[in-house]
Amino acid sequence: MTAGTAGQALEDLTTLVSFGPRFHGGPGIHAAADWLVAQASAAGYAPVRQRVVLSGWQPGTVSDVVVTSPLRRALPAWPMLSSGGAEGTVAGHVVELGPQGIWGDSQVWQHFAVVDPAGVVVAYLHGRDGGPAAPQPLPAGSDHTVPHLAIGRLDAQQLTEWIADGKEPAVDVRCNAGPDEEAVADNIVVDVPGASNARVLVCGHYDTFFNTVGAYDNGSGTIALLHLLRAWRETPPARSVRVLFFTAEEWHLAGSRFYVDVARSAPEGSADRIDDLDFVLNIDGLGRGDFLEAFASPESFNTALHLAVESHGRRVGRALRVVSRFPPTTGTDDASFYRAGVPSAFMTFNDLHRLHQPDDLPNDGIAANIAWTVGLASSLVDGLPRAARFDPPGVL
Ligand SMILES: [Zn+2]
Repeated sequence: MTAGTAGQALEDLTTLVSFGPRFHGGPGIHAAADWLVAQASAAGYAPVRQRVVLSGWQPGTVSDVVVTSPLRRALPAWPMLSSGGAEGTVAGHVVELGPQGIWGDSQVWQHFAVVDPAGVVVAYLHGRDGGPAAPQPLPAGSDHTVPHLAIGRLDAQQLTEWIADGKEPAVDVRCNAGPDEEAVADNIVVDVPGASNARVLVCGHYDTFFNTVGAYDNGSGTIALLHLLRAWRETPPARSVRVLFFTAEEWHLAGSRFYVDVARSAPEGSADRIDDLDFVLNIDGLGRGDFLEAFASPESFNTALHLAVESHGRRVGRALRVVSRFPPTTGTDDASFYRAGVPSAFMTFNDLHRLHQPDDLPNDGIAANIAWTVGLASSLVDGLPRAARFDPPGVL
């Protein structure tokens, strides 16, 4: 039996990334969907596709930020998702606006405006909270008529220091991102009959940003789901499981939000219902290392998850540092369920320096954590108690 081994995980992950970036609406995600459907079918399941149609956007071919004062230096930069573009080069001095929540307040970045000599805002820069420049979706309400470029933490810090020192940094910006035709890709739904009628939903997104093949984010979770499907063919889970491969997670969770919107109006008794799920488990980002973040809601479920992960680690003899967080962050697909009042959990071996980077490629550390997480997830599906119900969160 090969399911669940690190060697098989590396082989499957290598196949998945061979399709190229799996950007929602692009060719890579269609090839990946066909492959996942074929793999699930070969394992004896009947996968179903759910079409997700979004307004299109393309990242363009240039995304340059060049500091022109107080010295000349090109900064690595990426267009933020749904950024506007500009004709040719726009230029201006940099004004520090302050902190900016990305994915809600999951990450707090630094927000800068680029203002031309006539006082017109010609671009925005977004300084990451840690690590190199990485694209992310723009917050709702952003100005889509001008370029928005992500820069790394250290470059943002340099801009802040120049401004504090009265040096008025200036930049040239080039970016030809902008709207595109509609973007279409599929969520993939696979039902696994279990030993009882109790139901859980286990999910992960298989899409990526435009600049990466996303081995860690989230090829790893995708392959973990595939290996769970194969393992459950041999030993059915204690509960019935709906497995979901989501598209468009990187587009503000659009794939999972669409799924939840449709499921909320499913009739009584339908397998699509989400209200009576025991819980949702989202696997997003199995990077290298031994530091596992496991966030969940409601609070009692967050604690139960934390204790269950630690005890699984002890049982299989793995030294692991586990950190949980309640309320959970809002930048992963479990948040679509959490917002609907459905108990949900999220697990990641975080790897900030590979997040949304061209060098997010397969490696042995990822493969080992995929194989290990398959065992963990299957023990959680069988043993984690049904989570308490709660009112959908409001403002706080
Ligand atoms: Zn992700």
